[in-house]
Amino acid sequence: TTETLPTVPHNLSIPQFFLDYQGNERLVNNGQPVSGLEPGNPWLIEDKTGRQFGLDEIRSRSSGLANAMSTRYKIGQDDVVLLFSRNHVDYPIAIWAVHRLGGIVSGANPDFVSDELLYQIQISNAKLILVHPDALETAVSAARSAGVALDHIVVFNIDSRSTPEGFQSVSDLVREGLDQAINFVEPKIDSRKKLAFLSFSSGTTGKPKAVAIPHFSVIINVIQMAIHKKVFQEYAPWHQRRFRPGDVAIAVLPFYHIYGLVLNLHFILYSRMSLVVVEKFNFIDMLKSIGRYRISHLMLVPPHIVLFCKQSEILKNYTLSSVRSIMVGAAPLSNEVNEQIFRVFPEAHIGQAYGMTETCTSVSAWPITKKTGTAGSAGLLEPGVRVRIFKEDGSFGTYNEPGELWVWSPSNALGYYNNEKATKETFADGWVRTGDVGKVDRNLELWILDRMKEIMKVRGFQVAPAELEGCILDHPDVNDTCVVGVPDDYSGEVPLAFVVLNSDAAKRAERDINEGAKIKASIQKHVSDNKVYYKRLSGGIEFVPSIPKNPSGKLLRRVLREKARELKMPRAKL
Ligand code: AMP
Repeated sequence: TTETLPTVPHNLSIPQFFLDYQGNERLVNNGQPVSGLEPGNPWLIEDKTGRQFGLDEIRSRSSGLANAMSTRYKIGQDDVVLLFSRNHVDYPIAIWAVHRLGGIVSGANPDFVSDELLYQIQISNAKLILVHPDALETAVSAARSAGVALDHIVVFNIDSRSTPEGFQSVSDLVREGLDQAINFVEPKIDSRKKLAFLSFSSGTTGKPKAVAIPHFSVIINVIQMAIHKKVFQEYAPWHQRRFRPGDVAIAVLPFYHIYGLVLNLHFILYSRMSLVVVEKFNFIDMLKSIGRYRISHLMLVPPHIVLFCKQSEILKNYTLSSVRSIMVGAAPLSNEVNEQIFRVFPEAHIGQAYGMTETCTSVSAWPITKKTGTAGSAGLLEPGVRVRIFKEDGSFGTYNEPGELWVWSPSNALGYYNNEKATKETFADGWVRTGDVGKVDRNLELWILDRMKEIMKVRGFQVAPAELEGCILDHPDVNDTCVVGVPDDYSGEVPLAFVVLNSDAAKRAERDINEGAKIKASIQKHVSDNKVYYKRLSGGIEFVPSIPKNPSGKLLRRVLREKARELKMPRAKL
């Protein structure tokens, strides 16, 4: 793209940019302010209680927390703090506290089972864990296995619930930190190199890896989005502006995923909007909150859109007239559903955004100058983004030619943390090989046509086949396996396992059909017991005599993906 980006100083950390610099001085581009936060507006609103947090309180809470983390736990330069929690108003406050100390944040899904969390603690080398009380048991078990002392687990405060015996709470630490003299000094940084987040993604192949995201990636991606399509938001006529100071967005997307973290949290606050923080998504509760808080902006994933379309009858019972903008991302949205949602909200700005953890979120979005995106399109490339289309014959394509999408963006992550091999495979000379098949037309509109990488996107969450295959292979009846995604109306896709039984189990299954069903149930249970709910084998299990492989032993996943589609597995119900 040819749009120019403003010059952003490279010495600002995320909290310095979002809380201090922007709030007070405002970022200047050619003498013009790009944005700035309205200190008077509430920034964060707790959905359940309506409690509001303004800029001053957020700044003081995060300083207090930073102070206590520094004195009590000695958190400092490059120490990793893992957040194992649902959304919470103190979640961003904890992020900014860690950043003020020069530390790094890694967010994990609070529904993870102990082994999944253990893996993330080990790969990220986390020193301190902040946890939602509902996930405390899992955190304790994983921390024990990882050798993290239990006094290095801190619990978020939920309503009037008392803090579990023997643990510190975030609010306790904030008070403790504010009572003491401030004794930490924010390190001087180069924001292009200093890591802010380790967000987990499987990339194009293998198990989840920690994506090394520096402070600058988040800051610049927010700006890319804010100035998308040549309109500096603040200078566009009021009626053309999509994000206006004083608007209210809702955060049902989890902050541990890059879309929730960068767009739903940092971008919304940068746009001087208020953010209603929802602990756990529930469709009806969200409809109620839209009316209660006059929510104007929704950031969603395709399954949420499916709910709006399939349950349009019940929408009559709620006041949704405040909704002015709906952004959809993280997984493909079918043209059909896209058209339907336009009809459900005829007045709203609706469109898709495309991005990935490795590009530190958005690469394209439907532009500010257009009310709705084109159905099926992932939007226009954002300012500062370059793309290459890598064709099957090894050459680079031109406009309208399909091929693997490579992305160069100033927001691209630095690579995979402590994993040179995987970094080399995906990050080459600053380009991210996305593993998605796409094309770009002459207007720089991006179309995602297919996914060639292994990962499945189940309800917007990544599921790595390699991880599930490892788990299934632990089952005593299994000799070999290959997991692929099959289409599902609600989840987008769900995992299906092709399984080769060992000879004893195969004989049992052959002899008696019920025996085969029992083995399948036992494999299903094994996966459900050892993995978070969305990784379950909802697409079913198919017994096969062998898994097709190439001569060097690599799984021919594509063959089985085709086979799975042919099987036309019954789709999971809404
Ligand atoms: P994640 O790193 O979890 O955000 O996953 C990134 C992947 O999600 C991309 O590489 C795509 O495969 C998929 N994805 C994200 N946004 C879209 C979109 N708008 N359309 C199609 N696929 C998408």
